[in-house]
Amino acid sequence: MDNVISYLEGQRTQALEGLKDFLRIPSVSTHPHHREDLRRCARFLADELKRIGMQNVAVNPTSGHPIVTADWLGAPGRPTVLLYGHYDVQPAEPFELWESDPFDPVIRGDNLYARGSTDDKGQVWLHVKALEAHLRENGRLPVNVRMLIEGEEEVSSENLEAYLESHREELGADVVVISDTSMFDYEQPSIGYALRGMAYMEVRLEGPNKDLHSGVYGGAVPNPLNVLSEMLGKMVDGDGRITVPGFYDDVLPLGVEERASLAALPFDEEGFAGRLGLPGSTGEKGYSTLERLWARPTLDVNGMLGGFTGEGSKTVIPSKAMAKVSMRLVPNQDPERIAHAFEDYVRSLAPPTVKVEVIHHGTGKPVLTARDHPAVTAAHQAITRGFGKEPVYIREGGSIPVVAMFEEILGLPTVLMAFGLPDCDAHAPNEKFHLPNFYRGIDSAAWFYEEYGRYAD
Ligand SMILES: [Zn+2]
Repeated sequence: MDNVISYLEGQRTQALEGLKDFLRIPSVSTHPHHREDLRRCARFLADELKRIGMQNVAVNPTSGHPIVTADWLGAPGRPTVLLYGHYDVQPAEPFELWESDPFDPVIRGDNLYARGSTDDKGQVWLHVKALEAHLRENGRLPVNVRMLIEGEEEVSSENLEAYLESHREELGADVVVISDTSMFDYEQPSIGYALRGMAYMEVRLEGPNKDLHSGVYGGAVPNPLNVLSEMLGKMVDGDGRITVPGFYDDVLPLGVEERASLAALPFDEEGFAGRLGLPGSTGEKGYSTLERLWARPTLDVNGMLGGFTGEGSKTVIPSKAMAKVSMRLVPNQDPERIAHAFEDYVRSLAPPTVKVEVIHHGTGKPVLTARDHPAVTAAHQAITRGFGKEPVYIREGGSIPVVAMFEEILGLPTVLMAFGLPDCDAHAPNEKFHLPNFYRGIDSAAWFYEEYGRYAD
């Protein structure tokens, strides 16, 4: 590895200049007028992959933006990594809030400023440089690598599912590696191993067939808003437990070891609540804030509509009421099962005086990669070397739909090797990549392929 690391040290300028060229292409996937830029960006990446010695490099057309694939499979008996990333970026608007042109990368202080610098071009590029170092110095990679870099991540990966379905064989691997998220904190690298899933529901109630005068009719007819509030109010009890029957049946309890590891994270409880203008945090009894955020399921009313909400007063008993409800789910809850349990519960709570409609707005599966998976161990060793500091293990409260897709369609676990910072401003003006993390990230990636290569397939 000495030769690989010293090659990378000698390549820092080239690595940075290459990334800048990548960032100059305005690959904004949501804007139709950038369509040609996305093709150009895909070709730029493909040319680079060919140049470093990756094989079977292809720019695969889809009905949207192309997917770039490549592989290097010359390590029989070694594991295979599927590296996923995206070359498309969020729009840069509002341009006037940028201190410099979002598509003309500049360095200020320790940061490289440009749209896509962290999300995700910089984090893709660091893997490209790591692979280049192995290929140049040793003529081979320590593991088998397949790459899949899409151009539609910022527009819901519209064509990825179909692509995965129809290319299962070509995408066979042992693990997916993604560098597209943020570290736990400044100077605190982390490895992500779990994400929550979701079920999103809408409840509609109808009482009387028209809005009624609350004086003439009030007291003798059902009020859908009152009924809906009462129903929703029953869904979480005084201990913060969700009362949907069967809701917790499949929840994987946190082990003693994992709880200890989450408790050891440097989490600023007061700062967390303070930044939100709250006197303190709240939630399910018996769990810490991080456990509530990452490893316990939720049920939240996202919005309610009905009746009179204008200025002043108007006396009315509304005919209809509606609420949107999201449930964040954890391993091993099945979102479809939960969605149906929710619907059954709504119907059981509703009195016969109202008509009930429950709409299912979509689900996403929670994911969990075993913390003792060899790729997780390899990532731990690699980041420790790259950063000179051990990473912490974190879950994420949100979801990354592609991770669930890889698990569902390809049956693969995912390791999140994050090199962004919490304030990198991905999706916002003045997005930046902390350059020390770019170089540490390159070294960490190079070490990852080396360390994971020590495992026999
Ligand atoms: Zn991203």
